[in-house]
Amino acid sequence: MIPLADDWPTLRDRIRAAPSVALFLDYDGTLAPIASHPSRAVLPAKTKHLLAQVAQQPQLRVVIISGRALSDVKRMVGVDGISYVGNHGLELEEPPLRYVHAMARANRPVLRRAIRDLRVVQRQVPGAWVEDKQWTLSLHWRGVPESDRGRVQRLAARVMAPYRRQEQVRLTPGKRVLEVRPPIRWGKGEMVRWLYQRMRATTHATPPLLIYLGDDETDEEAFRTVNAYNGVSIVVGSAPYTSAGRWWLRRPSDVHRFLTRLLRARCQKP
Ligand SMILES: [Mg+2]
Repeated sequence: MIPLADDWPTLRDRIRAAPSVALFLDYDGTLAPIASHPSRAVLPAKTKHLLAQVAQQPQLRVVIISGRALSDVKRMVGVDGISYVGNHGLELEEPPLRYVHAMARANRPVLRRAIRDLRVVQRQVPGAWVEDKQWTLSLHWRGVPESDRGRVQRLAARVMAPYRRQEQVRLTPGKRVLEVRPPIRWGKGEMVRWLYQRMRATTHATPPLLIYLGDDETDEEAFRTVNAYNGVSIVVGSAPYTSAGRWWLRRPSDVHRFLTRLLRARCQKP
């Protein structure tokens, strides 16, 4: 991983030279600092303002891509004229298009049952809670004391075991959260690929430069997609770790700085 600031001159030239740019941004831990509760992970007002400016640049498409429910992340970001992807790629809103993966709809009864069953963990371990995101669910344990976190994971594994055996779900651990998704190979990576191919098909021009910023496990597959298309994959995290992301930023405030630089680079486009 290359610290992004070290490589900025090269990146700036690529961003300037690209006929069009597709900028994908994860929300939690990327645009907004992670908070004790998802409702408190608020987008800084200056970043919101900056995003709106970035979105107004010609030939620059902004896509917010999150594990949150689409309606939730859209409310948190609150910028018009951009695209939103929710539930790790299972739903998309790009007016006038609204899309929900058919398998997500079909799997809703299973998810409803899993939510009910996982409430056992919520009842047994104070601070753990289940979030129903309609097409996926999250079991959160950020609010659980360190000493009880192992217990949350053991209990969750026990509850989810029959679902796994019957291949009714796909489990993805994240940052102090367990994501329960439909049992399909469709995540952020596939959604990025689908949008990229659609952009290529509709523009009939040089493909857009893909830029993707994310911080968590489900962003890794998107990094790989972006790398395959020779794009710019940027991992956000306090320390470098093994990631498919090729560039590295430490925290959301650095993402803000990067967006400022990107805006400047596109404004000064020859
Ligand atoms: Mg994140």
